[in-house]
Amino acid sequence: MLGPPGAGKGTQAGRLAAEVRAVHLSSGDILRAERAARSPLGRQAQAYMDGGTLVPDELVLEMMANRIESPEAQNGFVLDGFPRTIPQARGLDECLERLGRPIDRVINIDAADEVVAPRLTGRWSCPVDGRVYHDMFSPPARAGKCDECGAALVRRKDDEPAVVRQRLATYHGQTKPLIEYYRQRGVLATVDGNADIGAVFASVCAAVRGIG
Ligand code: AMP
Repeated sequence: MLGPPGAGKGTQAGRLAAEVRAVHLSSGDILRAERAARSPLGRQAQAYMDGGTLVPDELVLEMMANRIESPEAQNGFVLDGFPRTIPQARGLDECLERLGRPIDRVINIDAADEVVAPRLTGRWSCPVDGRVYHDMFSPPARAGKCDECGAALVRRKDDEPAVVRQRLATYHGQTKPLIEYYRQRGVLATVDGNADIGAVFASVCAAVRGIG
């Protein structure tokens, strides 16, 4: 799943994985879990993540290769947020070649910066139960409080406006070239990410059915 931050990759990858009974492998989620566990990898990743820049390729590649090769990924996997650079894509190619499991499809969720930036800066989550809210699209009943458990909502540090600007610049400089990389291999399908979640998911499913 390719696309700028805030395009809806996580939401769409989660739904698609459930639909095709594959495992959802989100590099951002895995890195956040490593941080929460205060593992050596989590500590190394921290400053890059908080600044909106990329964690070094070799660290991310090793982390994702381990997941792809694990038993839980045997029925298939939906990659979300990885690869994010050309060297990561080459490393992924090598890993998949070793396993004899080529990529079926690369879905590029296309959305403009002006659309994704407010999605990110308006996002809040509950630190207790993980529910996600949005100032404009799904506000909590009481400002700043989780509807479910009443805990004070928090914003991801990298959803602050200055960091969002950096994440978008990182995307344009380092990740966008992957669109051409996969187009040349004939596996790319682009869907319009400006529509609502259900409409985008219908386009994602149509693109996946076009496999083969
Ligand atoms: P995300 O949740 O996908 O927006 O990722 C949050 C942050 O984790 C990014 O801004 C990066 O700092 C880091 N990250 C996630 N995936 C990768 C990746 N494939 N390569 C390098 N850094 C990554």
